[in-house]
Amino acid sequence: MPVGTLASVKGTANETLEQLNAQIILANTYHLYLRPGTEQISKLGGLHRFMSWDGALLTDSGGFQVFSLNDLRKVTEEGVSFRSHLDGSSLFLSPESATEAQIAFGADIIMAFDECTEYPADTDRARRSMEMTLRWAKRSRDYFEAHKQEVPWAQAVGGPQQVELRASRPQPRAGRPRSHDAEATQALFGIVQGGMHPELRKESAERTVEIGFDGYAIGGLSVGEEKRVMMEVIKEVAPQMPADKPRYLMGVGTPEDLIEAVARGVDMFDCVLPTRNGRNGQAFTSRGKLNIKNARYTTDQMPLDEACNCSVCRRHSRAYIRHLYQSGEMLASILLTHHNLAFFLDTMKRVRQAIRSDQFAQFRREYTEQLNSGLEA
Ligand SMILES: [Zn+2]
Repeated sequence: MPVGTLASVKGTANETLEQLNAQIILANTYHLYLRPGTEQISKLGGLHRFMSWDGALLTDSGGFQVFSLNDLRKVTEEGVSFRSHLDGSSLFLSPESATEAQIAFGADIIMAFDECTEYPADTDRARRSMEMTLRWAKRSRDYFEAHKQEVPWAQAVGGPQQVELRASRPQPRAGRPRSHDAEATQALFGIVQGGMHPELRKESAERTVEIGFDGYAIGGLSVGEEKRVMMEVIKEVAPQMPADKPRYLMGVGTPEDLIEAVARGVDMFDCVLPTRNGRNGQAFTSRGKLNIKNARYTTDQMPLDEACNCSVCRRHSRAYIRHLYQSGEMLASILLTHHNLAFFLDTMKRVRQAIRSDQFAQFRREYTEQLNSGLEA
């Protein structure tokens, strides 16, 4: 999932996301809750209509942002009080209010409110945090069950604005998972925590599954631990999650991370790397990372990635994109972001094809070998 923090995948028009066949994108509840606010988005018919996105959407619960961005937070059993990073106003998020906001936004997949356990955390601390996340998971689900009919699609369908909107934009492409109607509801995912402690992770997974969700996520990873530790936790926890429901690894990762986590049983990912690193001048390629600031690309007429078939690689040279970047042209960020999204989405497409044709092991070996061949070595 490309990350669209503020209901926008930075530097990327919806047409580009459609061209790249991005099936689902992520938006952040914390940021949208602060601005433009829940009521505003709900009044405008929900996130899909607000941003004119016909593909699927996932919103996180806001928990991770509150924990990672906010120094002034106070966590109690009831929820988390914090100050807005925009204007300093006092705000409060709880399992109920985070779920309420996500119902108002109307994304296809929404997340239970959890506490992202800090790293490092000893067993006692990780257990207390995990127990609270489990209580919050139950409260999130109870609130969702009682209020899921309040999703804005119901009010939006058939209204005059809806008719106008439909007439003014292209129809969803065939095969798109879009058929919102009054009977449709959102999918609510639970989040497994437990720090880096395998026995807690196992227990968290079992008890989260007992509460019962439409899909399950692994939270609290990529928070400063070594990659080896992260992969160990994924290896332990993924098999504990139901095989017939989506398994989602939150906030991860590099192309290698995606392949390695898939090998351990993960289905879904979100990560800011393709967009954020693109804005910082870095391209992900089939032969590893490419830093466009590097002087060696000044007269390089090759595309960013020879093996990539995206419209940027078909059209533009490294030399041109480097020139744009050095000149501070916004197009540099746009082109690098476009290519990086194409590369990540293509990687996952190839993963799916390899799994379907029962050739994932071979794909994993070849992909990793090529990635490590070192374009800039
Ligand atoms: Zn490309």
